[in-house]
Amino acid sequence: MPERQGLEALPGLLLPWYRAHARRLPWRDSPTPYAVLVSEIMLQQTRVEAALPYFERFMAELPDFEALAGADEAQLLKLWQGLGYYSRARNLQKAAQLVVQRHGGQLPADLRALRALPGVGDYTAGAVASIAFGLPAAAVDGNVLRVFARLLCSGESLSSPAFKKEVARRVEGLMPKGQEGDFTQALMELGATVCLPNGRPLCEACPVRELCGAACEGRQQELPVRQEKKARRREQKAVLLLCAGELTALRRRPDRGLLAGLWEPVTLPGTPDEAQVRRAVEELGGAVRQLVPLPAAKHVFTHVEWHMTGWRVELESARGLDPSLVFTTERQRREQYAVPSAYRAYLKPPRRR
Ligand code: SF4
Repeated sequence: MPERQGLEALPGLLLPWYRAHARRLPWRDSPTPYAVLVSEIMLQQTRVEAALPYFERFMAELPDFEALAGADEAQLLKLWQGLGYYSRARNLQKAAQLVVQRHGGQLPADLRALRALPGVGDYTAGAVASIAFGLPAAAVDGNVLRVFARLLCSGESLSSPAFKKEVARRVEGLMPKGQEGDFTQALMELGATVCLPNGRPLCEACPVRELCGAACEGRQQELPVRQEKKARRREQKAVLLLCAGELTALRRRPDRGLLAGLWEPVTLPGTPDEAQVRRAVEELGGAVRQLVPLPAAKHVFTHVEWHMTGWRVELESARGLDPSLVFTTERQRREQYAVPSAYRAYLKPPRRR
C-alpha cells in the first residue's frame, strides 16, 4: 500500500468526487439562505429522503422569511406534521421573526448572528454560514464526526466535546477558499452515502480511502467506538377514538412538553379496562353506545416509547361533551389539525400532495 498522505489532501480528493456523485437536492439547486436554513433545520433529525416532500411543500407555502414569520401556528404545524420534533418548526418561525425584525428579512452573513437565532446551534450555524455565504465555518454533525474518527483512526467517543472541537478545528483548517459550501456538503455526503455508520462503511467506493487511518489499519469496522445507549422510558397509554357518526373527537395537547400544541384523540395513561374506559368517557360527558377494542400499537420517540392500546367508542351523540373536545371529519384532520404520527395506527395519516 502506498504511504498514507496527510489530511491536507482531503479537499482535492473529496470535491471532485462530490461534484460527480452528489445527490441532486432542491436546496442544493437553489441554495438561497432561506432554503439552506429551512433544509438544515428539517435535516436535524430527519433523513434526506423523508424531508424532501416536506421541504418542497414548505417552500411552496412559505417561500421566504416574511411568509414564515407571519404564518399562523395551525398552518406551520400542519406543514411539519409527520416530521416530528415540532419545536424545530416553532423555533424556525421565531428565527424568521427575528430575521424580519432585526435584519430586514435577510439572513445575516455572520456566524455569531446566525448562532443567536432560536434553534440554530453550532452545526446549523456552520452549515448555513458555509453553504449560503461561503464563510469558512465548520458544520460538525454525527456524520462528520464519524468520518473523522475513521480518518484519524481515533478511539475518541463521538460525544466528547473535546473531539468535536478538534474535528471543527481540522475542518476549518482544511476548508478550500471559494469552495467552503461544497466542502461542507461533500463531508456530509461522504458520511451519509459512503462512510456509513454501524460498521458498514463502503470503503471500496470511498474517494479518500488513501488518507484513511482506519482503512489503513483495518479498523474501519470497529470505529468509531460504540457508545452506551440509555434505555428508553416505556409509557403505557390507551387511545380512545370517540366517534359520533363520521366525526372523531380530538383535543389539543398542552403548550409545553412532548408534542406541545398538537391535536390528539383522548388518551389515558396506563391500560384501563372496559369499565374504566366507559367511566372516563362518561366523565367527559359522553354516552357510550358501543365500545370496540382496537389492536395494540407502539411508537418510538428518541427517549420514550409509547405502548398503546386502543378503543373505538361509539357515542350516542357529539353534543354536550367536554368543551376541550373538537369533533372533526377525516378531511378536517387531514387539512386543519396537526396530529402526531404517534397516532398513525389509530387515525389514518393524511395523504401527501
Ligand atoms: Fe470511511 Fe472507509 Fe472512507 Fe475510511 S475508507 S473514510 S472508513 S468509507
